[in-house]
Amino acid sequence: MSIYDLTIDELTEYFLKIDEKKYYATELFSWLYAKDKRITSFSEASNIKKETREKLSKDFTISNIEIVTVEKAKDVRKYLFKLNDKEHVEAVLMNHDYGNSLCISSQVGCNMGCKFCESGRRKKVRNLTTGEMVEQIIKVEDESNLRISHVVIMGIGEPFDNYDNICNFIRIINHPKGLNIGARHITVSTCGLVPKILEFANFPYQVNLAISLHAPNDKLRKEIMPIAKVYPLKDLINAIKVYLEKTNRRVTFEYIMLDGVNDKEEHALELVNLLKGINSYVNLIPYNETDALQYKRSKPLTIAKFYDILKKNNITVTIRREFGGTISAACGQLRSKKEDI
Ligand code: SAH
Repeated sequence: MSIYDLTIDELTEYFLKIDEKKYYATELFSWLYAKDKRITSFSEASNIKKETREKLSKDFTISNIEIVTVEKAKDVRKYLFKLNDKEHVEAVLMNHDYGNSLCISSQVGCNMGCKFCESGRRKKVRNLTTGEMVEQIIKVEDESNLRISHVVIMGIGEPFDNYDNICNFIRIINHPKGLNIGARHITVSTCGLVPKILEFANFPYQVNLAISLHAPNDKLRKEIMPIAKVYPLKDLINAIKVYLEKTNRRVTFEYIMLDGVNDKEEHALELVNLLKGINSYVNLIPYNETDALQYKRSKPLTIAKFYDILKKNNITVTIRREFGGTISAACGQLRSKKEDI
């Protein structure tokens, strides 16, 4: 098992179980996560006694993923990682004026089958472990020499299809002795798994929730997102209302602009109706075209018109700034080039 799988509470439990001092959990967290420490072997944790360090080496591994390649473009880097079972996932680092944001993967492949998404063309092979998600941040910080201040779980995979590991991942990276990334700087994006949205409403961290909406009615949504056949918009919107009531956190709706599919005036008006009275904002995402899929990006003028209709109707709306198109690091393009399918 990876030491990065454990929250500080689980680590405390471990030390108690082996009759050790429980404050070792805090000590070890700082050996693992403090920028100037970052041990690669337990033998380096010098203030933990020798027998305990040896026990730790027997029970846990430290490094479990490695960087295979880094592709760089202006303000963006794409990392390809190899996992212990030789599978690959990707993460994307973006340099914003407000900090450095890392988009991480949560699964190998994805079962949601969104028609427009390149990452989902490969079915889910397995969930990433908590440690494999934590390590994406550690490895990128070490390689880039930058501090990651923001994390978005929007890479390969559906985070709510890997719910427990995602929650532990958040507990670890948010912990002051862990990576100390503010909850408000962490965003989980889901295609809309209703039971998990309801569960997440009780998760006591002030993280951001983004919903991949992409269509203003069930008919269209079902055509491009199979998950809509399981959870119709009515159920999704109801779950979001519960979430809003419990958390008081504004949700983000992501809406990719697909030429001739969901970008007409009537769609914008339908969207206004759907979101009326919901504390939210809409992020319009110019679609990133990929070779294997037939969808096209909406024309800039169409996007601008769509934006204006939302704005005029008092919906808070932004158009997403684009990163990484030239190195296939943009949303929905993440997949290993090694997966030749
Ligand atoms: N499964 C999660 C998170 C991963 S996808 C989810 O569905 O939210 C992250 C975002 O990228 C989603 O909004 C997804 O719909 C969007 N996306 C997928 N393919 C895209 C593409 N080619 N261009 C732009 N956005 C895309």
